[in-house]
Amino acid sequence: MAEKSIQDSAKFVAMVAKKQGWTLNPDSEFTDSLVEGLMVNFNRYGYYLCPCRDTEGSREADIDVLCPCKYAWDDVAQAGHCFCALYLRPDFAESGQQPSGIPDKRIQNT
Ligand code: SF4
Repeated sequence: MAEKSIQDSAKFVAMVAKKQGWTLNPDSEFTDSLVEGLMVNFNRYGYYLCPCRDTEGSREADIDVLCPCKYAWDDVAQAGHCFCALYLRPDFAESGQQPSGIPDKRIQNT
């Protein structure tokens, strides 16, 4: 599988945000580090594993945490941001609020 570059990964998250109507975290240093984490994960595992979670060992086992993870919609709606705080709800981003640590629904679901 072709390796992903930082640019590929940045394009990917921008596309996800646009498609879902989410806003990327305006803290560009923080967002860059998550984009880099996604790139590293893609090049290591072959898929965009969430940069804030560990692999369970296979794509099948990680299917719930391929970015955007299946928990992102609820987290963005309820907390204003996804677990990693990469994607924000637009009104949350505009309010200037800082993302806070939220429980990992993946763990809650197991
Ligand atoms: S928490 Fe979900 S949506 Fe946010 S970066 Fe991780 S996988 Fe992507």
